[in-house]
Formats: sequence, C-alpha cells, structure tokens
Amino acid sequence: FTSAMNDRVQQDMLMQNKLKVAVGRNEFENYYQPIIDVNTKQTAGFEMLMRWNTNNQFISPSVFIPIAEQIGLIVEMTMQAIERGLKDVASWYAEGFDGYMAINLSAKHFSSRPDFEKILNLLAEHKLPPSCLRFEITEGLLVDDNNNTLDYMYEMRELGFKISLDDFGTGYSSLRYLKDFPIDVLKIDKSFVDDIDVDSGTESIIESTLIMTKMLKMDTVAEGIETPNQVAYFSKTHCRYLQGYYFSRPVSNQNCYELLQKDWNLQFSDAKSIQDEASSN
Ligand code: C2E
Ligand code: CA
Ligand code: CA
Repeated sequence: FTSAMNDRVQQDMLMQNKLKVAVGRNEFENYYQPIIDVNTKQTAGFEMLMRWNTNNQFISPSVFIPIAEQIGLIVEMTMQAIERGLKDVASWYAEGFDGYMAINLSAKHFSSRPDFEKILNLLAEHKLPPSCLRFEITEGLLVDDNNNTLDYMYEMRELGFKISLDDFGTGYSSLRYLKDFPIDVLKIDKSFVDDIDVDSGTESIIESTLIMTKMLKMDTVAEGIETPNQVAYFSKTHCRYLQGYYFSRPVSNQNCYELLQKDWNLQFSDAKSIQDEASSN
C-alpha cells in the first residue's frame, strides 16, 4: 500500500463527497445535443448530456459519471436531470416541437426496478406523451443481465419509451442482444464514424450494420459526425439520423430554442457540394 495509492483513495473519497453535496444542491445542469433527421432535415430529438460546474471549475462527465455510478448516486442524479429535462421539453413542445429527449442510463438503474411511476407522474404534470422521452443504454448493461433487466426493458417499451443501444461497435456487439432485447434504435459509435475514408473495412461493417437494422426495423443514429464527408457518406448509405459537432455541440436549454424548428438543409447542401468538388478533382 504505497502513498500514491493512499493519495488516490483520498482523492476518490473527496470527489465522492463533493458529488453528494452537489446532488443536494442540485448543481448539475442539462445540456442538449440535437439529433438530425436526414429525411426531413429537421431536429428529431436531443440527447441530454450532464454538465457539472463547481467552484468555477468544469468537471467532465467522463470523470464524474463513473464515480457517481460506483457509489450509486447516478440514479438520483438522473431523476433530477429528468425533472429538469421534462420542464425544458414542455417549453419546447409549447414552441411546436414534437421530438424527444434521450436520457443515458447506467447499469445501476436496472439493479432494482426503475421508478417508472415517478416518470409517468412528471410526464402527466407537464402534459407530455411518453414518446417525448427515450433511453440510451450500453451493451455492458445487457452483459451483466440480472434477469430483471429484460423485464424492465419490456416494461419501458410497454409504457411507450423507446430504447437506444449506445456506442454500438465498441463492446461485444453481440447480435444476440439485438434479437433478445427490445431495442428500437442503434447508435453507431464515433470510432466507426472516424474511420470512414480511412479504412474500407470499417465502411463494410457500417454498411452491413445498416442493412441489418433495416431488416430488424430499427432506426440508426451515427454519432460524432464532424465533417461534411461523413454527412455525405451517411446520407448515401441511408443512415436516417445524425448527431455530432458538425451540426451542433451540446448546448444549454437557452440555446436550444433556435434548434427546435431549424432547417438543416444548408448543412447538407454544404456537405454535398464539398464532396462533389472533391470527387471532381
Ligand atoms: P455518450 O453517451 O456516448 O455521449 C456522447 C459524447 O460524445 C458526449 O460527450 C458528446 O458531447 C460527445 N460528442 C458528440 N458529438 C461529438 C463530435 O462530433 N465529436 C466529439 N469529439 N465528441 C462528440 P460528453 O457530454 O462529454 O459525455 C461523455 C459521456 O458521459 C457520455 O457518452 C455518457 O456516457 C456519459 N454521460 C453524460 N451525461 C450522462 C448522464 O446524464 N447519465 C449517464 N449515465 N451518463 C452520462
Ligand atoms: Ca449516449
Ligand atoms: Ca455514445
């Protein structure tokens, strides 16, 4: 047991305590990143991504989420985020938007039955349909299936919530999950998107995945779209939904309103003309 290890343990404990205090103070904020429908060139929905600013310091979710998961605090944090989020969604619906907010769930959310009643009450309070909420899960959650996970997922579908499989391609990517679990949407991980134009093997995998999801009647979202080439590629291969910095970074609720009815045609025609130019050279 070295002093470096001791430091590490102390740091983790410090962070755990800071997180607990932050939950009490409701210090977390919801940011939203639009998901674009290639067919309509409109915003189909937003993924909610949590942000934490404490003492003027920004702490990345990839740092605080794993710790919140470890100590089980994530369940309460997510419920707080859904409460904040549904208030925002209600204000979007008042502007005529009829898309969804996607919430990331961790394995911890399935270790006992999620509080669906609370979510349904919140929806009723804001006069919102269950279709305005969907949930993103990762394969890890399906791997350590405690048997109840499948039941909870079916219950979610029964209640009208869609389920997306996040980061597809990074884990086991067992095709069995697609067959056995009620998954409506598959999100192709950024690491695949990054390899377009670099590696033709990746493109074959993406295209096979798109054929498979089409046959399974699932929707697909390509994540981490940053370049016009990637937009052109996924338009051509009929991946219906796109998400990434090319369209918009995650933004605060205040900055969502201009994205609600935004016509993304310009971003698509820019992508097409850049590609046409490249192929004529
Ligand atoms: P994720 O669910 O895979 O979310 C996508 C991440 O990719 C987000 O990072 C997003 O800002 C980033 N991203 C989106 N488009 C692009 C792009 O074009 N380029 C690049 N380089 N990055 C892009 P973020 O917000 O830092 O979140 C990181 C991870 O933290 C998320 O990955 C998710 O696993 C977790 N997370 C964030 N918020 C929550 C939450 O409320 N609950 C749970 N359980 N996890 C969360
Ligand atoms: Ca996600
Ligand atoms: Ca993801």
